Amino acid sequence: MSGSITQGGTLDGDLELDCDVVVVGSGAGGMVVAAELAEAGHDVVILEEGRHYTPEEYGAMRPSESMRHLWRDGALTFAVGMDDSPMINVTMGRAVGGSSVLTGGVCFRTPGYILDDWAKRLGLSDLTEASMDPCFTAVEKSVHVEEVPVSMRSKSTLMFARGAEQQGFKLKPLRRNTKNCNGCGRCNFGCPHGAKLSVDAAYLPRALAAGARLYSECFVDRVTSDGGRATGVVGRLTRGSSRRKTGRLTVRARRVVVAAGSYFSPGILARSGVGKQSGQLGRNMTLHPGFRMMARFDERLDGWKGALQSAYSDEYEKDHITMVGLFIPPGVIAATMKGVGPKHLAKARGVPHVAVFGGMIHDEGGGTVRNVLGRTFATYKMHPRDRATMPKVVRIMAETFFAGGAKEVYLPILGLDAVTPDSLRTLDLDHIPAKRYECSSQHPLGTCRMGSTAAHSVVDPSGESWELSGLFVADGSIVPTSLGVNPQVTIMSMATRIAWKMRDRPYD
Ligand SMILES: Cc1cc2nc3c(=O)[nH]c(=O)nc-3n(C[C@H](O)[C@H](O)[C@H](O)COP(=O)(O)OP(=O)(O)OC[C@H]3O[C@@H](n4cnc5c(N)ncnc54)[C@H](O)[C@@H]3O)c2cc1C
Ligand code: SF4
Repeated sequence: MSGSITQGGTLDGDLELDCDVVVVGSGAGGMVVAAELAEAGHDVVILEEGRHYTPEEYGAMRPSESMRHLWRDGALTFAVGMDDSPMINVTMGRAVGGSSVLTGGVCFRTPGYILDDWAKRLGLSDLTEASMDPCFTAVEKSVHVEEVPVSMRSKSTLMFARGAEQQGFKLKPLRRNTKNCNGCGRCNFGCPHGAKLSVDAAYLPRALAAGARLYSECFVDRVTSDGGRATGVVGRLTRGSSRRKTGRLTVRARRVVVAAGSYFSPGILARSGVGKQSGQLGRNMTLHPGFRMMARFDERLDGWKGALQSAYSDEYEKDHITMVGLFIPPGVIAATMKGVGPKHLAKARGVPHVAVFGGMIHDEGGGTVRNVLGRTFATYKMHPRDRATMPKVVRIMAETFFAGGAKEVYLPILGLDAVTPDSLRTLDLDHIPAKRYECSSQHPLGTCRMGSTAAHSVVDPSGESWELSGLFVADGSIVPTSLGVNPQVTIMSMATRIAWKMRDRPYD
């Protein structure tokens, strides 16, 4: 049996389908559930709002094209900072493969102490390291998780590593979902070499081989139900970037899996009249607020050469900080530099000398998504502990770069010129308003959180809605707390676990 991919935009008229399981969203969570269930013999339909691009197609896109076609809203999605919180640029994917297509490939298992916390505080006692191990192992095998060799570290990362050693700590190697990676450093725009095994490359072929049918450009509005059971979904077919409605979409299914990501799954549930009883729907959003630090060295680094993300440090985990290597396209670095005309050109010539590193906060949360005038609107009120951590992350990373020999460091603070070691010492970072911090996030989690009671969570430990039988959620939105590490393996492993539970349960 072989499945099919249909671009919704090519269809005329309405679309009506019947299946065992309809999966809404084809990202890290949804695609995994779809493949696992299709391989177990279920008739699976996958619906994705974005378009389908093959790795050859997205690999040929310029970064600006990739942002237009693969990233949601051209990467201009925000969580509005409340009170003394920064404005946070929350990026995500909108295409077959979801945000998975855009990752740097970083793979971490859920830390053991996080799973212990979920068991103790949230009663999720089934999600132990031992019980999750088969799920982690299955995911890591499917997406080929491997350690990045030191030889693939970029000179940008080596500069930060040099500073770290001067400061008394060593960077650790990252693990990534890659095979035959050549270190071209373009991962965030879709791998042009088929080396990054995002879910469209690793799981979609499995789902199709087992007969799954994927429909892209299909926006799901809500879940339908009858007598307390989910019966399918309705929505619309769309065409092109205008997202113009071209027809109605109706899918009748015996089970529904919502996996539209932390920003959008709560909206689908809310429009379906499900999930509000707990008072938790759309709340508890954690983001891993992140900061990008750039530093100028005398030596030429060509920091774009090497694996985009190859090393990290958990030296400051006790302070709720994880530092992860990264790089950004040279054109984007140049665009962050001050000056106009010849002055800017002089600065931009320095791009080959720039190193970049990132730091993120293992946050307490404080985010909410809600529907405002038919659009998803997110806010984030930073916890006081995390607010106090912001200047700490910035100072630690800047000092590390200076210890490594940087001449100037560009702090992620709007309107601030490059700092030197002397000017950093006298800079009162604690009193800079949060709104001036340039903050971003790629890891929204928790808006339909999993829990052990209906009063405190949106889905039960099997991923099923407490309120509507046969409706499951399997994406980042169910992850109940911030992780302190990049989340894709956690999301894929929790999705695997949910799929296995669904597979083993007969239909009513
Ligand atoms: C730039 C970037 C880099 C990242 N790097 C890493 C990394 O290195 N390591 C790591 O662990 N994590 C990384 N992440 C995070 C990781 O990609 C996400 O946590 C993960 O993909 C989230 O999975 P998900 O299933 O919750 O949502 P997504 O993967 O975002 O998938 C949700 C899908 O649902 C679709 N959808 C939404 N609404 C609807 C609707 N109404 N109808 C139909 N479809 C809908 C969306 O278009 C999307 O394709 C990165 C993310 C980004 C954006
Ligand atoms: S660095 Fe490796 S995984 Fe990233 S885009 Fe290049 S080949 Fe692909």
